[in-house]
Amino acid sequence: MMDRRLFLKTAAAAVPAARVAGSLALGATGEIAAATGASPAATADLPWQKTLRRIGQTNFTEHDPAVFDIEGWADYWASLKVGAVYISITGILAFYPSKVPFHRHGKYLNGRDFSGELNEAAKKRGLRTVARYSPDLNWGDALAAHPDWFMRDEQGRPLPYSEAPELFSTCMFSEYMTDYFPAVMREVNSRYDMDAHYTNGWPSFTLPVCYCNQCRLLPKAGTPAYWDKFNERFVSLWKLYDSIAKDKKATSFYMNNMGGGVHATPNLAQLGEFCQWFQGDNQGRNRGDAPVWGATQQGRVCNAVLDGKMATNITGAYTTGPVRWRQVTKGPAESSIWTSQALASGMIPYYHVVGGEKGLGEDLRWEKIGRDYFSWTARHDAHWVNKNTIANIGVVMGQRTQLFYQPPRNITMQQYTDATYSALLEGRFLFDYVHEDRMQLDRIKKYAALILPNTALLSDEQCRQLRDYVDQGGSLLATFETSMYNERNERRADFGLADVFGIHAAGPVIGRSGNANPYMARIERQHPILDGFTDTHWIAGAEFRLPLKPIENPVLTVVPGYTAYPPELSYPPVSQTDEPAVVLRERGASRLAYFPGDIEATMWLSGHTDLSRLLQNTIRWVAGSSAPVSVEGKGLVEVFAWETQPGFAVHVLNYTNPNAHRGWIREFYPIGAQQVKFKLPAGRRVTRVELLRAERDIPFHATGDSIEFTIPSVSDYEVAALYSA
Ligand SMILES: [Zn+2]
Repeated sequence: MMDRRLFLKTAAAAVPAARVAGSLALGATGEIAAATGASPAATADLPWQKTLRRIGQTNFTEHDPAVFDIEGWADYWASLKVGAVYISITGILAFYPSKVPFHRHGKYLNGRDFSGELNEAAKKRGLRTVARYSPDLNWGDALAAHPDWFMRDEQGRPLPYSEAPELFSTCMFSEYMTDYFPAVMREVNSRYDMDAHYTNGWPSFTLPVCYCNQCRLLPKAGTPAYWDKFNERFVSLWKLYDSIAKDKKATSFYMNNMGGGVHATPNLAQLGEFCQWFQGDNQGRNRGDAPVWGATQQGRVCNAVLDGKMATNITGAYTTGPVRWRQVTKGPAESSIWTSQALASGMIPYYHVVGGEKGLGEDLRWEKIGRDYFSWTARHDAHWVNKNTIANIGVVMGQRTQLFYQPPRNITMQQYTDATYSALLEGRFLFDYVHEDRMQLDRIKKYAALILPNTALLSDEQCRQLRDYVDQGGSLLATFETSMYNERNERRADFGLADVFGIHAAGPVIGRSGNANPYMARIERQHPILDGFTDTHWIAGAEFRLPLKPIENPVLTVVPGYTAYPPELSYPPVSQTDEPAVVLRERGASRLAYFPGDIEATMWLSGHTDLSRLLQNTIRWVAGSSAPVSVEGKGLVEVFAWETQPGFAVHVLNYTNPNAHRGWIREFYPIGAQQVKFKLPAGRRVTRVELLRAERDIPFHATGDSIEFTIPSVSDYEVAALYSA
């Protein structure tokens, strides 16, 4: 089952015919020609949004109707060959003379139809338009007239918005969402021809905690039972808004503000079934210690649930991060690596600026950054039409674990995710994310191995799916509390996957006190997962572990933690035990590895290279020699391989940079030669290899079913496009 050729063939066959149709020729708007009538045969069956290659947004402020240069705006975005722009409608402030009660007109509107003028200017240039709304906040007069529209704290008080306390948070379970907001959408339908409708600000990136009269009837906030109700409401509102969009025209649809990567609030597997455009509001690194790969992580999440439907990721042109200036442009290197990540991970790049004081703004540095990047992507549009990822490893993204599991320390689940991601990048593995609700055998059998990074919450059914996968020859790597909880976040007496790994819990989680040494792992015998460990019997363990019952012939055993200070007492009172620090099994073709320690989180906190090496070795051992593409060379890079419309593509993002783990990237440091080996599916051959960033062809040679070539250097990003017959 793990035959790579079979996988490529199967994956290609699964792509709907509409998405593999014809060649692409760009119209003046940046849309594929069929959308503008030039080559109808090529893309006639594609939904219009799938023909877009770039998106631009100026996010309008209340002041803009007094100062904004509409023609300059439309000219700028059209010249960047974006296919669509966003038109502000809102819900907080109307940008047109709305008659919907409580849709307050902006103070500078003066009766003007600003939304209509923008829409006309965009349409005149052949751009698609998306109506932008914000249903998340409204004013005191609405609160006074409709107190039930608003969220409440435990004492029943409304929740003023911290930065603008004259605005109050609306409740998604209230009639605000079913009366007021649909009225605004219908008014827009009656006035304008727009191609889609989009809400910002809802749903929120954390699950709501509200004590209004409706929400008091719901299960306790922050529980899986609440999440069920949240998802029910989310789906029903989405469908309501989508039906209103379609009342105007059949090709229209509704979408909303998503993002949050693995940590999103709605059930993403469910969303993937009806979502037509996933809008990744993930505009830049959001924390001081955020690593650089935030946008690719979002792309992998989209690939896991959308089955090739439209996904965009926003690059905020302005300052993003823990301290923000909405009207000061971000450094160009940070901006471009973020946009490159969107592209590499299969999303449509989307560039976003806020407001246009004195025409298009006072800080206009963003104009050149957007123009330079989008002019480049526009020269290579055919290569951004991906069919499917090429990867031999799946990483299970446990959305319930992300939302409900409490790690045994003050670490976030995002840090577990980043830690695993970091080891996968260091090892240059090709991997996809796999949503926990999409582990049916047909979906996951293409992977040689699945990784379960502390995927604590797994239902009996999900455990059964993993068991079936292993029975069919699939391999697993899991850590720490994986499968110790069911999907309701109830702790099991033993692992749900106990039989699969041959493990049994022997007691509660053991941590360390204060500054004490965490446990170490004693090498009991040699094994491929220990490659590179020489001159030592001990290697780093982890801060926390779930003790296991002894097994036969262990590879690593636990040396329990002990005093770090004073050094006189810093020696292990018990230096050898029979408690396993890893459990490895081979069953037929499948390889199984389980670490009782939270080794990835400890690696992330300590930076210890033992743990990174151990993880990479173990991933390599479980995945075997199935890697369809390898990229060898120096440097920290992220690699994607795609089957594309013209053939294949290998994307290499260069993160070899002092600012890879803390923003921003100031400049790029080119890395040297990268040797690529690419196994081709049966019956395919390559006729040409072009480097899209360097914009030149390079030599390659075929050996058996593979081709090999060398990318001489990578500055920020390189894409090797393989033209295939
Ligand atoms: Zn409420």
